[in-house]
Amino acid sequence: SPVIGVFALQGDVREHLHALRSAGADAVPVRRPGELAAVDGMVVPGGESTTMSRLSTVFELLDPIRERIADGMPVYGSCAGMIMLAGTVLDGRPDQESFGGIDMVVRRNAFGRQVDSFETDLVFNGVDGDPVHAVFIRAPWVESTGPDVEILARVSGGPADGRIVAVRQGNLLATSFHPELTGDLRVHGLFVEMVLRGLREPGLRGRGTTDE
Ligand code: GLN
Repeated sequence: SPVIGVFALQGDVREHLHALRSAGADAVPVRRPGELAAVDGMVVPGGESTTMSRLSTVFELLDPIRERIADGMPVYGSCAGMIMLAGTVLDGRPDQESFGGIDMVVRRNAFGRQVDSFETDLVFNGVDGDPVHAVFIRAPWVESTGPDVEILARVSGGPADGRIVAVRQGNLLATSFHPELTGDLRVHGLFVEMVLRGLREPGLRGRGTTDE
């Protein structure tokens, strides 16, 4: 089975490790560059993106993660993880860094105080069957996307009607919400499939070789 890391300097790491294992992956925490080098793909969990930014700089993971993303490593970011995959972050700290990789503008804490946390059902392109029950916790939304970004889900109804909450660009997947908290393994299953495909396709080596 593929080896999928979970960025483990901050966030709901255990929940993602559990969901990945249940979806058939070999899941390991990633806290240092050597651990990053040994994974075929990575999840960036929910948590606090300003802290993730600061700690990934301190623990010298920021540039190695950017390089793995540039090499084609599949990455899935949920909530704070979505923010970390955004090319542009609105309402972040002035010095906030992201890994980038997805050509999108993301707004932190976008749903506002009135709807700090909420749950809703989403039609999710690429996930078959029933709608996905989505849990949002001080979540970001995607304000705009570039031409290569595929929009997978939007909120339907309520004050945030139409807002983009799931996207994919190549090997990068991001959701505003937390599928690791609901026991629905379909989004993690989709990501495990992306990692397996990355391993099969020449030139998209999971374990980060650039010369191909
Ligand atoms: N508000 C957090 C941030 O800006 C994200 C919240 C979450 O991951 N549940 O990073």
